[in-house]
Amino acid sequence: MKHDTAKRIFIGFLLGVIAGLTFRVLNWQSAVEVSGLVGDLFLRALRMLVIPLIFSSLALGIAQLGNITRLSRLGGLTVAYYLFTNAAAVTIGILLVNLIQPGVGTPLVEEKPPELPPLQLKTLLLNIIPANPIEALAKGEMLALIFLSLLTGAALLTSQDIGEPVKQLLNSLLHLTMIVINWLLLVAPLGVFGLAVRLAAEFGLSVFLPLAKYAFTVILGLAIHGLIVLPVLVLLFARLSPVAYLRNFVTALLTAFSTSSSSATLPVTIECAGKAGIRDEVRRFVLPLGATVNMDGTALYEAVAACFVAQAYGIHLLPSEQILVFITANLAAIGAAGIPAGGLVTMPFVFQSVGLPVKGMALILPIDRFLDMFRTTVNVLGDIVGCAIVQKAMKFDKNQPS
Ligand code: ASP
Repeated sequence: MKHDTAKRIFIGFLLGVIAGLTFRVLNWQSAVEVSGLVGDLFLRALRMLVIPLIFSSLALGIAQLGNITRLSRLGGLTVAYYLFTNAAAVTIGILLVNLIQPGVGTPLVEEKPPELPPLQLKTLLLNIIPANPIEALAKGEMLALIFLSLLTGAALLTSQDIGEPVKQLLNSLLHLTMIVINWLLLVAPLGVFGLAVRLAAEFGLSVFLPLAKYAFTVILGLAIHGLIVLPVLVLLFARLSPVAYLRNFVTALLTAFSTSSSSATLPVTIECAGKAGIRDEVRRFVLPLGATVNMDGTALYEAVAACFVAQAYGIHLLPSEQILVFITANLAAIGAAGIPAGGLVTMPFVFQSVGLPVKGMALILPIDRFLDMFRTTVNVLGDIVGCAIVQKAMKFDKNQPS
């Protein structure tokens, strides 16, 4: 990825914010709508690529590992990394929300809560194995997609020559998808501009102020995790300079920030990882899996949100209940889809686990989309850091081609 692309996307974003705030002042609703439409087209084009990309890259990532021992090592390391960083993020969130107490004294609004079906652990588990794969893919059920890709990859890994044609097909599908991604990156600044216009025009600063303390807690937590914890992990476990490594991913991080979607950002993240020297087998495994299940930012956000609402209602959460928030926030983040507001859908699960009124979610809604940009960036950052750490831990032979 040329640094040029990152620069152009950044300029697109900045111009979008300026234009959005101007349109807001001038009340140019139609200009906001047209820009939003351009942004949506870009977002849809990215999301269009997600299913072929995840399927081909994950299945191939496994198929090309050579043997099952390597697969279990790669899988084990990746999952251990995800669990550890998610837990670290939630811990930071819970500590901060107890320290800052943003909910105490917040006026309760009696807005209508969002109509969300409650997430149940049983449904979450059952959805992993789709009875009808085509239906699951058509509905965009990402955990099912991950399961199908892993299974196909494992079958290809153990198959002898008979699997070769399918491997070649997946390889060619992956390459074609990457070609389209490069085309999309050419128009990315325009798409990002459109998204930024709408965000800036919608938010202004007015919705932000009443909830400023809460937003501050979330953003501070995300900053500690994203700017301190994760870079330190790069330094300690990947033995790389965090700045030098993360510079390669500016385009992906900006895309995450402006699209609020880990899934939509995946094509860009995979592309950046190639340029950053991450081996194919690692990036094709860690990133698609991470974009779906590894969401440090969302986990932190869900924990803070639940504790914040409890504080606003004057409900005192016992340490044992906070542990329950810790566990359910981790699970809710795994279950959340990598799409804008994906975390919101799984939030009732956290609330219900400690008996918080789900209608309390109305309190945090006004700034959910705003905070989504930050948490999605940290979600993607977590996957990026995971690549470097897993690659180092796999101890690849330097001369071995990837
Ligand atoms: N938008 C987030 C993501 O795509 C998920 C969330 O809403 O927390 O990573």
